[in-house]
Amino acid sequence: MTFCLSGFRSFPKLWKTSPYLELGPVTSSVPFFLTVYCVTRNQQRWFSVKPTSPPDSKAMNLLVAKARTLKKRNDSNKQISSDPHYFAAGAAKKRSHVTKNPQDSGHALPPVRSTIQLPTRPLNSKEWDKLKEDFEGKANFEDLVISQMAQSCSCVDVAKSLLAWVAGKNNGIVGYNLLVKYLYLCVSHGQTSEVIDVYEIMKARYKSLESGAYTLLIRGLSHSDRWREALLLLEDMKKVMTPSRKNYDDCIQGALLHQDVTVAWSLYQELVGHSLIPLLDTLKAFFDFGKDIADDHYSSNLLDILLYLRTNQLYPGESFAHSIKAWFESIPGRQWKGQFTTIQKSGQCSGCGRTIESIHLSPEEYEFLKEKIMRNVIDGGDQYKKTTPQELKRFESFVNSRPPFDIVIDGLNVAKMFPKGRESQILLAVVSQLAQQNLRLLVLGRKHMLRPSSQWRKDEMEQVQKQAHCFFADNISQDDPFLLYATLNSGNHCKFITKDLLRDHKACLPDARTQRLFFKWQQGHQLAIVKGFLRSKLTFQHILSYDTVVQTTGDSWHIPYDEDLVQRYSYEVPTKWLCLQRTQAPAPC
Ligand SMILES: [Zn+2]
Repeated sequence: MTFCLSGFRSFPKLWKTSPYLELGPVTSSVPFFLTVYCVTRNQQRWFSVKPTSPPDSKAMNLLVAKARTLKKRNDSNKQISSDPHYFAAGAAKKRSHVTKNPQDSGHALPPVRSTIQLPTRPLNSKEWDKLKEDFEGKANFEDLVISQMAQSCSCVDVAKSLLAWVAGKNNGIVGYNLLVKYLYLCVSHGQTSEVIDVYEIMKARYKSLESGAYTLLIRGLSHSDRWREALLLLEDMKKVMTPSRKNYDDCIQGALLHQDVTVAWSLYQELVGHSLIPLLDTLKAFFDFGKDIADDHYSSNLLDILLYLRTNQLYPGESFAHSIKAWFESIPGRQWKGQFTTIQKSGQCSGCGRTIESIHLSPEEYEFLKEKIMRNVIDGGDQYKKTTPQELKRFESFVNSRPPFDIVIDGLNVAKMFPKGRESQILLAVVSQLAQQNLRLLVLGRKHMLRPSSQWRKDEMEQVQKQAHCFFADNISQDDPFLLYATLNSGNHCKFITKDLLRDHKACLPDARTQRLFFKWQQGHQLAIVKGFLRSKLTFQHILSYDTVVQTTGDSWHIPYDEDLVQRYSYEVPTKWLCLQRTQAPAPC
């Protein structure tokens, strides 16, 4: 045994040379497997057997959160009658639950595939041989086992016995794929010394790695004493690709953990310089670290992060919001007091009574947005795809020969809002109710709506045309560009009705500022119908009067944040806020 052990003493050798394999195949197998097994049991460094790690707390938290989400989802189904705002976080989720056929939910189940009953303790070579013999699938056995181990977060020492068995069969060589998945397990169990061992093996065997291995090594090393080597790996990575924001996150967290603020901020600058949006966790880490240091420069960097959230229409999560609150309240002099609150319909903060910024666009913002939409969405260089130039001309002169409208209605879309009614009947109900309020209406429709049919009655369409201006486009045209054109052309007061959320157009817009303005304009101008017709009067969702965005007046901050268990779609806004007030003037310098 000593002979065998010495062969493994330096673990990189395990993968390179195995002199005893030069023995004949029949005689070699048994002693070698014994060797590996004994190494598995005794060798402290590479094949060390460690006490089973505690259940991965992150995974556990995730499970708990998932269970809660499920519960919450069930609860929210029960509360479905309380209509949230159209753009309120979670509203789309609720809407989708109303319309979704419950039988559809079966799709959520993962596809069935061949699996192996994973061992729960390290196996020796004979046991692995037996397991492989019993395996009948077509896939590569070793790859399948390690993948399954990675998925189910198996114990490191069980995976290690697999690697030892593979190495034993294969001149001490373990394939890259296996090694990386083993590394993944070591990283997720926080087994730093194993991570470092694999790191050494990889350094010895490969000149450069692919991004998956770099990412794992960076993550594994950044929390260890050898965190500076994670920075070297980041440099290596930069030679061939732009590291991901997660790579930066790991390095920044490592630097902060080891009190190197300068490195942390310079990595942050580099990350933003690559036009990557930092992970919210990265930003949170700066606030968490900031609690322990009194430094004006550091503080002003944190305030810049808040402004960065504003510009990019980002919202912190719940725990990040707690970190921001804790940091403000930790500023010496106890000048700041934070509270979690909501905003009233009037736009006033329920915590401090201040008025939140208006949703209305300034005249300059409005002109800027209008110009961009006209150029990018309506013309967009591909106007033929959306409509013919002749039809666009016809529409432009139609709109320009009339005074501005108050409401532009997507006729086809509105007519389909309530599946039980006849389409022309629904459209007429909407138009009549709005016309009674003396609003100047434009109904956008398709030519087929004028051909009498079971859904489109002639008398009802005639009544629609009496109460509203109507434009009927060719049946092939897209409605949205017309809707946007007519609404924007009528001016900042003009609203529009459609069930669509115009997400495609947002994607057409050239930059973050224009997209943010479009979203703001949409929230301030899109009317949504929330209650049915026929029995009751139509009810329109009120339009938010305030803008949901990080904002400050100098001695106050208002920060919308996402609750952990509410799933928000990209076109929705959070409903919860952190209100921060300065309670006294800052002490004189
Ligand atoms: Zn407030």
